[in-house]
Amino acid sequence: MKITVIGLGQMGGNMALTLQSAGFAVTGMDTVEGARERLAAQGLNVVTPDALPASDVYLLSLPTSEHVREVIETTPGLLTRAPVGSVIVDASTSDPVVSRELAGKVTAAGLHWLDAPVSGGPKGAATGRLGMLLGGDEATIAHVTPMLEAMSAKYTHVGGPGSGHVVKLANNYLCAAHLVTTAEAVAMAARSGVEPTACLAGLNSGSGRSAVSEVNFPEWILSGRFDSGFTTGLMRKDLRLARDAAAQLGMPLSLLQKVVEMWHVDRDHPSDSDDFNHITDTILTAATTDTATHSGEDNTR
Ligand code: NAD
Repeated sequence: MKITVIGLGQMGGNMALTLQSAGFAVTGMDTVEGARERLAAQGLNVVTPDALPASDVYLLSLPTSEHVREVIETTPGLLTRAPVGSVIVDASTSDPVVSRELAGKVTAAGLHWLDAPVSGGPKGAATGRLGMLLGGDEATIAHVTPMLEAMSAKYTHVGGPGSGHVVKLANNYLCAAHLVTTAEAVAMAARSGVEPTACLAGLNSGSGRSAVSEVNFPEWILSGRFDSGFTTGLMRKDLRLARDAAAQLGMPLSLLQKVVEMWHVDRDHPSDSDDFNHITDTILTAATTDTATHSGEDNTR
């Protein structure tokens, strides 16, 4: 199976190397020369945007749906350049409305579509241990199963085109909320004299635990490393998409709106390029000061 990976960033670069190690014929493409050079130095065959090869699968790992649209539609995009019967797999965290629209165009052009957003960060991508949420039809999934198995520890088919992206937004909403709620819980306990590590040990033995309390706090927050590979800017994007998806469905969710506001209230602390776990800084600092944590101001646009 020939695979072209488009977008060689934190996720796509590692996915490309993992697939190559698993024996697939992989080519990488990125618009940024530095990204191409970084992957070429690690042994990947890379091309510029004007030299996309004919492939069985085009695996996209791009910042936003607008980048995905550009790669698929903008002349000469994949709609006109990809061989009939090839599969476009969007592993980005994308807008489900755009994904459904693009899936229709891709299918009309004789290609196949799968949305396949991922969890597990750059480490999961580098080790073939991603979690993947699949939106598409059974036949397309069956066709790319060897690739999915090489990339992921687990993949879950959740519905038709766009469904993977909806569930990914729901997942990231919960992760963003858990970062805030767990930081508030740890800060409250710290103010009353309980060490954060002791508090987390307690939470993780109870029903309040989550991936945030079990992984993010020990690995990235309390360790001071803040090197998860996922930025605050990407999480803010996902939260805005989740809020917009809920609004389009006629169900603005009050807690989701509050979480979106909390992540946007101060665009400099953390900044978009900071590790997303830094959202806990202000809350945890408040455990040792009298500073109020967040205002209710809506600064999300
Ligand atoms: P990144 O910014 O590191 O990489 C994106 C890459 O896409 C960049 O190298 C950029 O140059 C390239 N690019 C942009 N436009 C392009 C185009 N038109 N053609 C080719 N390449 C183009 O981002 P990332 O952290 O790798 O994330 C990629 C996607 O995966 C995002 O949608 C993100 O939300 C999602 N995601 C990231 C993580 C994580 O931990 N980093 C985890 C899960 C999901």
